[in-house]
Amino acid sequence: MIPAETIEKIRDKTDIVSVVSEYVKLRKTGKNYVGLCPFHSEKTPSFTVSQEKQLFHCFGCGEGGNVFSFLMKIENLSFAEAVKELGAKAGIKVEESYASSTSRTKKEKLYEVLALAAKYFRDCLEEEKGIKARNYLTQRGISEQTAKIFNLGFAPEGWDNLFRYLISRGATPELIEQAGLTLPRQDKNDSYYDRFRSRLMFPIYDLRGRVIAFSGRTLTQEEPKYLNSPETPLYHKGETIYGINLAKEEIKKANFVILVEGNLDLLNLYQAGFRNTAAPLGTALTPYQCKLLARFTENIMLAFDADTAGGAAMERSAELLQAEGLKVKIVELEGVKDPDELVRKTGAKGFQEALSKALPFLSFKIKRALAKHNLSEIEARAKALKEVAGILSLEKDTFIQKEYTKMVSQQLSIEEETLLSEIKRQRFYRRELEKDLRRIVEKPPSKLVEAEKNLIALALQDPQALAEIKEKLTVEDFSFPETKMVAQFLFAVDLGNTKDPIHFVLENLPEESAKKMLTKILVPELPANKDKILADCLQVIEREKLSKQINLLKTELKKAEQAGETQKVVELLHLLREQATSL
Ligand SMILES: [Zn+2]
Repeated sequence: MIPAETIEKIRDKTDIVSVVSEYVKLRKTGKNYVGLCPFHSEKTPSFTVSQEKQLFHCFGCGEGGNVFSFLMKIENLSFAEAVKELGAKAGIKVEESYASSTSRTKKEKLYEVLALAAKYFRDCLEEEKGIKARNYLTQRGISEQTAKIFNLGFAPEGWDNLFRYLISRGATPELIEQAGLTLPRQDKNDSYYDRFRSRLMFPIYDLRGRVIAFSGRTLTQEEPKYLNSPETPLYHKGETIYGINLAKEEIKKANFVILVEGNLDLLNLYQAGFRNTAAPLGTALTPYQCKLLARFTENIMLAFDADTAGGAAMERSAELLQAEGLKVKIVELEGVKDPDELVRKTGAKGFQEALSKALPFLSFKIKRALAKHNLSEIEARAKALKEVAGILSLEKDTFIQKEYTKMVSQQLSIEEETLLSEIKRQRFYRRELEKDLRRIVEKPPSKLVEAEKNLIALALQDPQALAEIKEKLTVEDFSFPETKMVAQFLFAVDLGNTKDPIHFVLENLPEESAKKMLTKILVPELPANKDKILADCLQVIEREKLSKQINLLKTELKKAEQAGETQKVVELLHLLREQATSL
């Protein structure tokens, strides 16, 4: 446990705006800052940071919290790790109590097991039994030095080599399995076998240079060709990029990244001097990976394989990267199947040339659409016109759209006007479609939830409001799970002595959803007419209470009428009239 005073001291000395700025480009609007959310895909910023309250909230995906939660989420750290890291930056030493400093966390143990496994695979590659893997590397043009830099290894044949090695170094069978290195045997209880056998091993590192998983290429004919670690507490598929730990500084320096499909493409490009190269470990990129890249550059060069699968993966990846606001160019591989082959055939110079000829994604799409059709036929030209108009109708920059329209209409031998009006037509239809969709999806927010949320927001920022709410309402008056949970906390605790009620509540609430609700209502600035809001919201809740009572009375009345209890009916009618007048 880290003492609460230490946590508070670190929070006081840390500015959430400067921490977030290391990951997100922020712009000031009013008192708050906004930027593109690092946790979900968006084109217009809904990620908001309040410097005054030291909170962040994304109105798009609902993520929110304070500076510790931000660092935990973006760097995949535990609370203690985040506190320590910010403490180090603020020059505050974090003393942990005895208990937690001696018992390492499970994550720390997993990192250790994976580092040990990487060392084992490395040793195997260098030993005599690694000859097959070494030969394969030579055949693929990978030098010993490059293999060393990427810490490549070899998983030997046999069912439990790694397992026995790790056990002899003190790891438990459960931990080894959780690290994704073994699988339980079906035929024998409490028995395991190695996941990676007869494979060339590529350790996968996180941004901090810790081994979190492996990718193993078969050295026999066994399927799959590449076997990756399963999901583990440390490794989440689609959240890591191979080579990024080594490439990140080079990417910043060059201000662009070359993305390739295969690990061996990456190694060969690295050897040829293209050190700003990374590989997404899968066929298509994920939004998370796009976000990760955006932290280092906004310029992406896609050099995926030239086959059709590579083309489709490239297209999807490019669309996604663009949606994240990144600038994408396509490196065309002519006459070769992948970047590996290009660089080995033509050297660094050949690849450099391909890079300099890379096409902006829009150009590439138009070029491909036109190439599909035989433009000497009128019918084919009509089809090409529609297709290109579809592509151009998505372009937001009117200058770019106009320039391309000019160019394409020449190629199609048509008037610019013809293409322009087709673009407008397609854009109009899409807008109508989007409007319909929005109509279906959007629901009006309930007045009651809004009132409860407003009251919570006021209670946390204004002691007088809190006192009034406590006087007029009870916990039972809050009807939604999240607001009720916060209300429970507020009614049970005396906030009078806490210096910073907002952060006190945030750090002590047990439920994640309630925390996100809190940051959502706290990040926007408090309106000037807060007394009126307080009165209005209290009234909404009072009315809700009354109408519930009236409904209850009505049901009772019905029952009494059916049972013929005349006296009770009269009493209930009287009560009902009283209630209704106060509504
Ligand atoms: Zn978001």
